[in-house]
Amino acid sequence: MAQQDTDQQHSGVLPVDDEGFVIDTEDCEAREEAYRARGTSRPITVVGNPVLHTECEDITTFDDELAGLVDDMFASQRTAEGVGLAANQIGVGRKVFVYDCVDDSGDRHVGVVCNPVLQDLPADQRSLDDSNEGCLSVPTAYAELARPDFAVVTGQDEKGNPIKVRGRGYFARCLQHETDHLYGRLYIDRLSKRDRKDALRQMEEGTPRYPVVAND
Ligand SMILES: [Zn+2]
Repeated sequence: MAQQDTDQQHSGVLPVDDEGFVIDTEDCEAREEAYRARGTSRPITVVGNPVLHTECEDITTFDDELAGLVDDMFASQRTAEGVGLAANQIGVGRKVFVYDCVDDSGDRHVGVVCNPVLQDLPADQRSLDDSNEGCLSVPTAYAELARPDFAVVTGQDEKGNPIKVRGRGYFARCLQHETDHLYGRLYIDRLSKRDRKDALRQMEEGTPRYPVVAND
């Protein structure tokens, strides 16, 4: 039996709250599984691959091909045990990321953002958090990186409906990290020279636990 759609006002993939932010914390298990079950897991691109260091193209057509890409991204994210994945991390230079991320309150968020734009927020709405960060495209490496602990991203869902996503703590970090990817930026590009070098050394010494695309 299908669940009844009681939200007549909003035609998007996810319902929205009073302030217009998507509610991405409901039915996470079922939604994530549905995407992943339709998709095929693909290997992850790693630092040095040009697709990761170039701004991706805007998504202008919200069609079945995009839906298929999103499905593959969820499948790949699960295989690699990631909490977020940008399209260029499976070699596709288009502006879309997916996430499956638990925030600092223990709430799981699952969603899709096309053409994300990070909103500038007044300093009194956020403070810096210097937690550890890692990236599937820099396998086995971690580094502390200060980022705002609150983030708002605007964009579109996979059907093309305008959306706003709000994140705090670790989920805010995820939204910023994934948006960076689509503009050709890795988190190690935000580190000091020394910390960047150390992250690359960690990567060289480690072995990824998921398939990666070898660089030429
Ligand atoms: Zn990453």
